Amino acid sequence: MAEPLFRSPPGTRDLMPPVTDRMRAMVEVFADEATKAGFGQVTPPMFEDIGVFVRLGEATDVVNKELYSFEDKGGRTIALRPEQTASLCRVFAEQRPVPPWKAWYYGANFRYEAAQKGRYRQFDQVGAEVIGSSDPDLDTELIVLAARFYERIGLRNVQLMVNSLGDPADRAAYTDALRAYFTANQADLTEQSRLTLAKNPLRVMDSKREPDQQIIEGAPVLGEFLSVEAGAAFDRVQAGLNALNVPFVVEPRLVRGLDYYNRTTFEFAGLSLDAAQNAVGGGGRYDGLVANLGGPDEPGIGFALGVDRTLLACDAEGVFGAPDTNPQVWVVAATPGVEGLALVDQLRRAGLRSDRVESTRSMKAQMKKANKSGAEVAIIVGEDELARGEIAIKPLRGQGDQKNVPSSELVEAVQEYLQ
Ligand code: AMP
Repeated sequence: MAEPLFRSPPGTRDLMPPVTDRMRAMVEVFADEATKAGFGQVTPPMFEDIGVFVRLGEATDVVNKELYSFEDKGGRTIALRPEQTASLCRVFAEQRPVPPWKAWYYGANFRYEAAQKGRYRQFDQVGAEVIGSSDPDLDTELIVLAARFYERIGLRNVQLMVNSLGDPADRAAYTDALRAYFTANQADLTEQSRLTLAKNPLRVMDSKREPDQQIIEGAPVLGEFLSVEAGAAFDRVQAGLNALNVPFVVEPRLVRGLDYYNRTTFEFAGLSLDAAQNAVGGGGRYDGLVANLGGPDEPGIGFALGVDRTLLACDAEGVFGAPDTNPQVWVVAATPGVEGLALVDQLRRAGLRSDRVESTRSMKAQMKKANKSGAEVAIIVGEDELARGEIAIKPLRGQGDQKNVPSSELVEAVQEYLQ
């Protein structure tokens, strides 16, 4: 076979059935959960002025190394979105919807990452954000929305980890303590982490590299630096999760990378996946981000769930299989006209998955196709049936004989077979 001239770029995939069917079904479940909870769907553009994302923090990998950016023909510096929280904050600052604003989204993000299984350069996320309320019960509500979604798609082996990053002053005190600790131990850190340390000591906590892990384990934890208010808010979130029977663990070393996070932060780990790539979703509060983008000083909280990664977790647990997309009815037409085409159209309009092949093929060849298609019944029309105004229905699986029905009763007769 000839080699193709082009392949999809590294870190991208051609998504095809049944993966596409499962992804769509997954997004539909999320859309349903979000709609029930009063969120409206928002779709920001796939690219923005690079400044929208640079505000996430210059010391973050997402901005520092992974951004796809280019100058457009109008001389603007544009970036493909690496995530959508910043985009939604930009939307809020620009459109000024009435707070609290509840928005959900779905779509592709782009990061120039080292590609591997579960880590792609183009990947889909679903997510939800609420801008305009600092009520800690809302933090709980969002975490529960994500947890119920995982529950509904059948994932069982998902662990929720929560932490509080405190308020900016708490974080500053903690960052100082971390800087002192990591500086004292920098000889044992990886080169990358030493570079990160110079920019943002908090980010060193995100490192999954083995030598760093040992140092990270001995690092001071943020909980010791929380203000009274931040501590009370975190207690309230934990009480809420307990009351709603959502299991969680407090993970004091969970800091999550982006600079704009404060107070509640959380992550869902798919425990059936390899540890290095097991985050199926995460989120947290980002009270300063909207103001940072030039909008009103409104607090925000949200999360993003990786669709590709969640599907891998489903595979690992053997849940959320592909929806049935096989045809239900196969049309076999041995007539010179377009009867076969008209019949699939009629059946499809009645809501039935139906298909056919060219009616120039022999009856035998068409029946072979029908049997292979997975359809429950074949309907057959030849010259004789056509002349009598009838159609033959033949069950392809299970019991029952072929029978003829008047054309006008076709849909009802087929539906009876499918029950
Ligand atoms: P983040 O926006 O980095 O907090 O990521 C949220 C979720 O998106 C993660 O928990 C992953 O499930 C997913 N995710 C992030 N980056 C990638 C990637 N490069 N490829 C696939 N999924 C990703």
